[in-house]
Amino acid sequence: MKTLTDLFSSRPRTFSLEIFPPKTEKGLLALEAALKELAGLGPDFISVTYGAGGGNRDRTLGLVRLIQERHNILALHHFTCVLHTRKEIRGILDHLQKVKVRSLLALRGDPPKDRPDWVPGPENFRYSSELVAFIREHYGDSFSIGVAGFPEGHPLAADKDADARVLKAKIESGGEFVITQLFFDNALYFDYVRRVRTLGVTARIIPGILPVTSYEGVVNFCKGCGASVPDKVHDIFSPIAQDPDKTREAGIRFAIDQCRELLARGAPGIHLYTLNKAEPATQIVSELRRMSL
Ligand SMILES: Cc1cc2nc3c(=O)[nH]c(=O)nc-3n(C[C@H](O)[C@H](O)[C@H](O)COP(=O)(O)OP(=O)(O)OC[C@H]3O[C@@H](n4cnc5c(N)ncnc54)[C@H](O)[C@@H]3O)c2cc1C
Repeated sequence: MKTLTDLFSSRPRTFSLEIFPPKTEKGLLALEAALKELAGLGPDFISVTYGAGGGNRDRTLGLVRLIQERHNILALHHFTCVLHTRKEIRGILDHLQKVKVRSLLALRGDPPKDRPDWVPGPENFRYSSELVAFIREHYGDSFSIGVAGFPEGHPLAADKDADARVLKAKIESGGEFVITQLFFDNALYFDYVRRVRTLGVTARIIPGILPVTSYEGVVNFCKGCGASVPDKVHDIFSPIAQDPDKTREAGIRFAIDQCRELLARGAPGIHLYTLNKAEPATQIVSELRRMSL
């Protein structure tokens, strides 16, 4: 299986999807069914989150292998260093290498809800840049490595400039590409790209887009991850919050408009947060295909 580095060298624009490992068997069966449809969309790669919300780390690898081996699609394995010791990280990376998982999104992650006071000790990493440097030191170019980007700045960063310097450090440590946090105002993405380019960051920065399927869900999620919800999103989705069909339709339209502008103004692709559902992604992708993505 080739890596994302190989893919990016031949594809100036990519279209990709993100899924997360469900907590239950029922959720896993539903995801496997959705994956068949999502795979049929012909994404360049599918990424699988790791430990978000505190669990199911082993399931990430199971899904990555399913995507690669059954669907023959390149998979991006997210990998967070929070809670792991260096020794554990070596063990996991050795295993990933053995089973031919070669593309990683290297992240710090957040302490889980049941251990909010966890702080890194001498055997842990504090920042994702340390994880990236560790992978490069021990595995050379065996892995293609991406990192997370925050168009509005990470919630714990002092300001947007400090956040941009952190991205630069992640790239200088060996990160090759960036996938962004969700945003609803494209100006935030273009400002971010300009800000980090000024610092000399030339890496590909793929915008992460979340189609709204629940107004309340999006507002709550954004509170947690530090993304802002602009007035236009409140204005569109608040009046139809109790109508799931209208919300879904409006969410698809909003995401298509957002993606269309991003691509027209030079974004190197779209990474869609699917929330494990085939439907919004299917409609959005058929529309984007008409723009020959
Ligand atoms: C595309 C994407 C995918 C994600 N996937 C997952 C997932 O699969 N699982 C999951 O649990 N979470 C995931 N997350 C969430 C992510 O783990 C959290 O946002 C986490 O809080 C930050 O991770 P990071 O890798 O950006 O951390 P870091 O890059 O380590 O940054 C964390 C904080 O430390 C600060 N910082 C970094 N380096 C330094 C330094 N040298 N000096 C001072 N301050 C510094 C940063 O400004 C930031 O405030 C994802 C986020 C994105 C955008």
